[in-house]
Amino acid sequence: MFSYRHAFHAGSHADILKHLTLIHLVEYLQEKPVALTMVDTHAGAGIYSLQDGFAAVSKEAENGIYRLLEFKEEGNAIPPSIQKYLDCIGSENSGDLATYPGSPFILARMLRPQDRLKLFELHPKEIDILHHNIEQLDCTKQIDVYAADSFSRLKGLLPPPSRRGLVLIDPSYEDKQDYRYLEITLEEALQRFVTGCYAVWYPILSRRESAALPDRMKKLAATHKRSWLHAELRVENAPGERRLQASGMFIINPPWTLEKHLAEALPILTQALAINSGAQYLLKSMEA
Ligand code: SAM
Repeated sequence: MFSYRHAFHAGSHADILKHLTLIHLVEYLQEKPVALTMVDTHAGAGIYSLQDGFAAVSKEAENGIYRLLEFKEEGNAIPPSIQKYLDCIGSENSGDLATYPGSPFILARMLRPQDRLKLFELHPKEIDILHHNIEQLDCTKQIDVYAADSFSRLKGLLPPPSRRGLVLIDPSYEDKQDYRYLEITLEEALQRFVTGCYAVWYPILSRRESAALPDRMKKLAATHKRSWLHAELRVENAPGERRLQASGMFIINPPWTLEKHLAEALPILTQALAINSGAQYLLKSMEA
């Protein structure tokens, strides 16, 4: 436990899928002026250097955000759905890409005065870095940082006062119990706040719990008569699991615009980030 550091994975293909989806969810939910509460249950450090530290060791961004930028520089057309994401990442950098914002910074930068952001982080080192990073922002009064287990604490924040809420659930799945905790947490959250928008990221691995996750999420959504959207991005298909080859997002109560947004982005991301011919994507949805 606690060996996971998100800096190793900052700017990876999995971050691209997650953050591109997240940005669209916030934009849609902010179309109305009513206050939006956003909860990031697994925050990480908030923002990462891609030039040194863990990210420079793992080099995952090379097959992720840097590859996508190269694809664009080669003259390939980038649709608005992807450009929006690139603009958001680019806004943390004055020149070449050296810094990658994690979900806390992406969400913090999108806060309107009436919105609130709640961040949970349990890792003793990550929470200190997160606190330090968040203190650099000028919207700190709108942000609460909790050094706590979000699986047990999320329900206490629901429903948000305005009843407009977005919850990103992005565990490290370091502990295989995370799959079970995720399900229990979502069940409790839906009982309290059934109209909330819930976005779950998960790694696609051969382990049984990971393979079963989308079906379990579908079952949960059906029990609460909720619509869902399921997206996956695979960049390679190779024997072994030396590095993460694919990941998915499962969204409960997705905005109606999300499917079109991802239908535009996913084929291009698959083409841009493909490591071998096993690259592919999936996009499925169901109305409640
Ligand atoms: N959401 C971040 C982003 O997109 O930039 C990445 C988060 S990373 C995948 C998962 C984080 O959750 C790790 O930093 C880990 O320490 C933290 N974590 C693990 N279990 C937790 C728990 N039960 N409650 C809160 N944070 C937890």
